Amino acid sequence: MKNENLLLFDTKSRQLQPLKSSDGKRVRIYSCGPTVYRDAHVGNMRTFLLGDLVTRCAKYLGFKVEFIQNITDVGHMSEDFVEDKILAQAKAESKDPFEIARIYEARYHKDLSHLNISPADKYPRASECIEMMQDLISKLIEKEHAYLGSDGCVYFSAQSFPGYGAISGNRLDSLKPGHRFEYTEAGAKRFHADWALWKAAGDRTQMIWDSPWGKGFPGWHIECSAMSLHYLDNFVDLHLGGIDLRFPHHEDERAQSNCTIDQEAVELWVHGEHLLFEGRKMAKSSGNVVLVSDLIEKNLDPLALRLCFLENRYRSQMDLSWQSLKAAHTLLQRWREKIQLWQKDANSDLSQSAKLIQEIVNDFINDLDTPRALQKLRSLEKSESISDGCKYQVFKEVDQLFGLNLLNQVTQKSLSPEAEIILQQREVARKSGNFPESDRLRDQLEKLGISVKDGKSGQSWDWIIN
Ligand code: AMP
Ligand code: ZN
Repeated sequence: MKNENLLLFDTKSRQLQPLKSSDGKRVRIYSCGPTVYRDAHVGNMRTFLLGDLVTRCAKYLGFKVEFIQNITDVGHMSEDFVEDKILAQAKAESKDPFEIARIYEARYHKDLSHLNISPADKYPRASECIEMMQDLISKLIEKEHAYLGSDGCVYFSAQSFPGYGAISGNRLDSLKPGHRFEYTEAGAKRFHADWALWKAAGDRTQMIWDSPWGKGFPGWHIECSAMSLHYLDNFVDLHLGGIDLRFPHHEDERAQSNCTIDQEAVELWVHGEHLLFEGRKMAKSSGNVVLVSDLIEKNLDPLALRLCFLENRYRSQMDLSWQSLKAAHTLLQRWREKIQLWQKDANSDLSQSAKLIQEIVNDFINDLDTPRALQKLRSLEKSESISDGCKYQVFKEVDQLFGLNLLNQVTQKSLSPEAEIILQQREVARKSGNFPESDRLRDQLEKLGISVKDGKSGQSWDWIIN
């Protein structure tokens, strides 16, 4: 499909803007990636799905896409700015920090595949791009946008970039000294809103590198400037991240990147809103952090999570619950079963299916209006005037955008030999009217995660969704 544009809400201009390829060859997309000190939770996964949705949609429209996502394995400080998140976790697990980073990075890729999120073209690791960052810092010093502080750290001079604040609205004159957004070193910075590009090692002994300014490690914001400019040839058509990254992370990245190339480095800034779980912010301290592996443990299809995300537009805050996940799981199963049946109908009016497909594509290109697109699938499922063959054509085609693996057969259920025997014994007990025994065997099956239902044609079973 050609000649159509995907409209996205750009945080900087606060308007819908078309996604375009500035070099006429490919659309260059950069997304801030995970900090690999723990498993990504379902909120993080919502933000990471955004890159996949945009990429699928752009490719569907005929664009070539180059998509880079970094892996933050150094430099992201804890909320109180006291310690690097990776080093803190390494201490907690008594492991080497690089081992920690690689373990969680591998798990991140697994989570992505569970959600059918297509891999990026490259996942550069911050710790392997140190030279690139140092080059960028040297350039910024040369251009007098950065300076070496009395504490051996290199700082970006916020006042040297007049456009500061355009993404978040946090202009320099409204930022008060002491605001909690960057760790402060009394006296070392020239201006309170300056931030560190390179941090002196001090008494830190791990994850430090030699540099022209002494041993140290990079700041988190410079990582994304260096990797995005390097891997995407000095221009980003679309930059993605969660809404919390608007400030200071993206504001600082924009200042660094623009000052390096002396022009606007990013065309569109798009941010995904946050996810709450059962009405609350997910936090370790509240004990409500949910992982993809938790869904799998409850026998839920991880794509039920993807479906829940799609029920909400990326830029509205959403609330997830176990109940909505179970409902999405059931809906996915039902659609997959129906699609298998619809497939058998060779009767399809191609012009009708093309029209229905286009309507759904229109929802996607209108700032990823996935809730509206899903509503169309629901109406189509129920329609009595549209042939099964046509329904099949539409579901099959648009699944390229939804990415729900709708054409997959519902997984064949297979029981262990032990459960098989108990099930047979229960059938016999029921038929002979031995209901206490039948109930006992039902309880036994329940302990194995199997629920039994009695119907007219005998008993049937399913996995229990916990
Ligand atoms: P982190 O691994 O902490 O660097 O975060 C990875 C991504 O997840 C970032 O783009 C964050 O903005 C995003 N994020 C963090 N919490 C949430 C949440 N509750 N809902 C959606 N996205 C989130
Ligand atoms: Zn970033």
